Amino acid sequence: MKENPAMHKIMENMKPGVIALHGFLGKDTRNFEEIIDHDAGELERLETDRETLAAKLEEIRDKAMEGLGIYVKLNDTYMAKADSIRGKIPCPFDHPGVYSKTVITIQNLKTDEEMIYTDLGIHLIREHGFFQGTGSLFRMDPEKLHDLLEND
Ligand SMILES: [Zn+2]
Repeated sequence: MKENPAMHKIMENMKPGVIALHGFLGKDTRNFEEIIDHDAGELERLETDRETLAAKLEEIRDKAMEGLGIYVKLNDTYMAKADSIRGKIPCPFDHPGVYSKTVITIQNLKTDEEMIYTDLGIHLIREHGFFQGTGSLFRMDPEKLHDLLEND
């Protein structure tokens, strides 16, 4: 894959401290296109797609918002809460518009694992198929997201 100026700008945007304090790539040494390609393969293996997962995350966000910072039980496996954080954040792919920084935390009651995401994270999945780099604070692993649907 050849890096063009547009890609270079996106890679810069994804570094820590440019748009987001912790950046979007975590410890991942792959570039964003390689991460997207890999996760697209995961979606195929799981027989799901990014729109389905993004819609689920929106549904959970809306339920979590009703809890006003307190955990809301989603089912026997999951609960979620929303923490309001002031400010907005732009898309690293240089789209117009900004996204709420409200942080949604989903906790798996059986494994104690947590997943955290924001509105931007939902946008990145839906529009870009980008689940963020491994080790990134807001990495959304397709397999773990798929489990949200399986346990619905
Ligand atoms: Zn975008």
